[in-house]
Amino acid sequence: MKTQGTDHYVEAARRSAEWHRSHLEAMRKCRFDTIAVHGVYSMQESLDFNQGSIIEPIYMSTSQAYRDADEMEAALGYQIPTWCYSRIGNPSMYYLEGTLALLETYGTGLDATCCATSSGMAAIQSAVDPFLVVDPANPDQRINFVATSQVYGGTFQQFAIRKDQEKYIEWRKIRNSNDLNEWVSLIDENTRFLYGEMPSNPGQAFFDLEKVIELAHRKGIPMIVDATVATPALMRPLAWGADIVIHSISKTVTSSGFGIGGAVIARKHLVSKVGSDEMKTDFGTYIKLLPNRDNGPNISPFNAIMALNDLRTLRSKVDQFSRSTMKVAQYLRQHRHVEQVDYLGLDSHPLHPLAKKYLVLVDSEADELYGKPVNRFGHLMSFRVKGGGEAARKVFDGFNMIWRATDLGRIKSVATIPAISTHSQQGEEGRKLADIPPSLIRLCVGGEHSDDIIRDLERGFAALDGKVIPVSSPEYSAGGASSATLKR
Ligand SMILES: *Cc1c(COP(=O)(O)O)cnc(C)c1O
Repeated sequence: MKTQGTDHYVEAARRSAEWHRSHLEAMRKCRFDTIAVHGVYSMQESLDFNQGSIIEPIYMSTSQAYRDADEMEAALGYQIPTWCYSRIGNPSMYYLEGTLALLETYGTGLDATCCATSSGMAAIQSAVDPFLVVDPANPDQRINFVATSQVYGGTFQQFAIRKDQEKYIEWRKIRNSNDLNEWVSLIDENTRFLYGEMPSNPGQAFFDLEKVIELAHRKGIPMIVDATVATPALMRPLAWGADIVIHSISKTVTSSGFGIGGAVIARKHLVSKVGSDEMKTDFGTYIKLLPNRDNGPNISPFNAIMALNDLRTLRSKVDQFSRSTMKVAQYLRQHRHVEQVDYLGLDSHPLHPLAKKYLVLVDSEADELYGKPVNRFGHLMSFRVKGGGEAARKVFDGFNMIWRATDLGRIKSVATIPAISTHSQQGEEGRKLADIPPSLIRLCVGGEHSDDIIRDLERGFAALDGKVIPVSSPEYSAGGASSATLKR
């Protein structure tokens, strides 16, 4: 039997890619909410391939079959778009990745690609490792990267232990990320990238991103930003010139809390002194198809759709969360048991003016409620209880609606004491560097009415006045929800 050859498939794929590109161009012209809702999933695709399903299907299949040897050859040679095997890619993963790429480049005309990963930590590893390669001309040179020290606890561990300690790759720590001279002084010819978390979790460190990006590019290296806390509803670093954006989509993006995931979104043609042209031209696709194929950290199709489902309403949720957080922050600020409230939205915060430059609710000027750009500051805040660690624990134990969990970004309010949880591994010194005293409670206000959250905070503070309101009864744990309900 005469085969048609791989050319036939390559040509068909070219036509279909062209159609898809024009569809993406059309989506790009839509507003943020519209992109979040429809993403890259078209009516065409639904009717032609998915039996009219209006919601993106979860492709739970491990692998994709091919019509014949030619198609398989073209696919596995990456000559035609293919997902092949779900460790690498999958249509459901793409629905999320394509949408995130559009949202991160919203309003810029930039082209970016996204690789979704099994967690935020996997996203960070996927984003930084390709730059931390040995230079064959200089194999003994110790390479380094410059990154803010106020980072998420897991990031601190990955950088300090997995890279610096185990791999002899130096992490040069920025103590005050808002001091540009510090960035300048730490960069040398062996620096592979600059990295910043902004706003940082939990300290909300913030820096003048535009200036640090300019510095990175002057030195010929990429700028990587972890923008998990802001989400694309408030800040899109690629628009400011960043090369790569990282998200833990386990947080506000998937506020329902239905899954863990991460994302790397990279601009095309990024700046780097190392790496192949292929890597620099399209970093998102490169890591997805090559290093992540070999290392296996990409997201599962199920978690991808869980994230996508929450992502659709991101903008309005972030707006509501932010407004409630502001009310709670103002309440805490005047509380007699509170020493300090750290929230970028408060005008008393030293970084408030700078945060205003970057944290703007997307499309607020096109929103009938606002009609002008409005600042929103997200739902991460922290406060320090007067009386130190012991007092903080008492307040914390008094909550009956705010969940005690090492989590954030939820539709349900959640609090933690970072010194004994997320940041316990990095030791006293690391915590001092990150400004995380034992009296600090990180609070993330969810979708409840702020009055109810304030009431729950009151319960916590009541403990400091010797009024301990029991959180749960023995029947609660023994009898489950129904007996607890009856009890109250
Ligand atoms: C949670 C978090 C991470 C890690 O994400 P996971 O999905 O938990 O792996 C990275 N950066 C920031 C800012 C985070 O809050």
